Amino acid sequence: MTDLNGLTFYIETFGCQMNENDSELIAGLLAAAGARKAERFEDGQVVVVNTCAVRGKSEEKLFSYLGRLRSWKKKHGLVIGLAGCVAQLYREKILAKNPDVDFIVGPDNYHRLPEILSHGLGLKPVMTSSARDWNEDERQPFMRESLVSAYVTIMEGCDNFCAYCIVPFTRGREKFRPLRAILDELAGLARDGYKEVRFLGQNVNSYKDPETGALFQDLLKASDDIKEFKWIRFITSHPKNFTGEIAKTMARSKKVCRQLHLPLQSGSTMVLERMKRGYTREDYLETIRLLRSVMPGISLSTDIIVGFPGETEREFEETMSALEAIRFANIFSFRYSPRPGTAAAKLNDDVPFDVKRRRLLEVQKRQKAIQTEIHEGFIGRTIKVLCLGKSKKDERVYSGRNEGYQVVNFMSERNVIGRFVHVQVKDCGPYSLRGEFCGED
Ligand code: SF4
Repeated sequence: MTDLNGLTFYIETFGCQMNENDSELIAGLLAAAGARKAERFEDGQVVVVNTCAVRGKSEEKLFSYLGRLRSWKKKHGLVIGLAGCVAQLYREKILAKNPDVDFIVGPDNYHRLPEILSHGLGLKPVMTSSARDWNEDERQPFMRESLVSAYVTIMEGCDNFCAYCIVPFTRGREKFRPLRAILDELAGLARDGYKEVRFLGQNVNSYKDPETGALFQDLLKASDDIKEFKWIRFITSHPKNFTGEIAKTMARSKKVCRQLHLPLQSGSTMVLERMKRGYTREDYLETIRLLRSVMPGISLSTDIIVGFPGETEREFEETMSALEAIRFANIFSFRYSPRPGTAAAKLNDDVPFDVKRRRLLEVQKRQKAIQTEIHEGFIGRTIKVLCLGKSKKDERVYSGRNEGYQVVNFMSERNVIGRFVHVQVKDCGPYSLRGEFCGED
């Protein structure tokens, strides 16, 4: 076992939940080797930057963050390592441009981090690959950020090759974690008192146990039997793999939350076709109708890209009308930016920047109004909330999520972190609900 006793490390995470969970793995691996986690990069001897390549903006953020680390390194000394998707994809380019980066490690080699660090500096180790099979031994242990809600990765990679997306090139093809390993992890989390689990994967709906062939709905059913968990969520779903069977399993389950993130990307069938998404606007709307018929009141969220190559004003309006028709509880919206190496990068990026910007603002403005209206519908109601911690803005305020994944802030005389509580909603904004604590569940 590699010994990193006395070493302090800090991890900065960019990007999605997958990256957050990977950072928990990296922290767990380094801590198991004797290193200690720091809360600020200034207190770390090693800084691992867990990168994301999905959007151009994440990359820009990374390079500006590296600039800050560089200045610190000059004055105080520091080992800088890059992990994650950007690291996997642009390793040579990054090392050539950033001689201060000491090592690069891709998602399939995190288990080798203690070894990399114990070799000392100056080696410039680059460990990146896309393994084809799941290796359970390399995915332990985790140092989780939350003691209440845990991510559990069930699959990794993607076979879909949506035209704009870099993920299949950075995370490789789909590989699935054995169901028995997932259930073992769930049992451990249940023993540790976790109240909620969030299954993670680039396309969780395509899950297939490599040992038994069990499908995603079978995983949901098996998880439902673990009595300690109260809430189960999952992300990300793909509309083309979201079957009626999954919807019905959700509806029958006592624990799977009535909440779903289902990326639409565009409301135009023509744009979806160019994006190679594998479904039409009608298919998507049909899935929403099915979900709402078996789970009335289900809370839905989505991703939207505006300004994809060739997107006309009429096609954009179809996205606006989809927002209007579906009324999502939340959306993540982005301006299209080409990712080198993807199919869309070969298309003419012909929607002018100003048009993309205007469309994004229109989407966000309309969604903000929809969210405010949805939130106003909560005022006066008492809702069940899982308290996840304190509000980042105000230490006196507790913060949690309801079943629909809305942020709920409230005051309480006693510490209720990790508890299910009832909150009467008094006020709201577009991004959160505020209320009065009424008692524990
Ligand atoms: S489904 Fe499409 S957008 Fe999602 S990870 Fe796979 S290729 Fe990317």
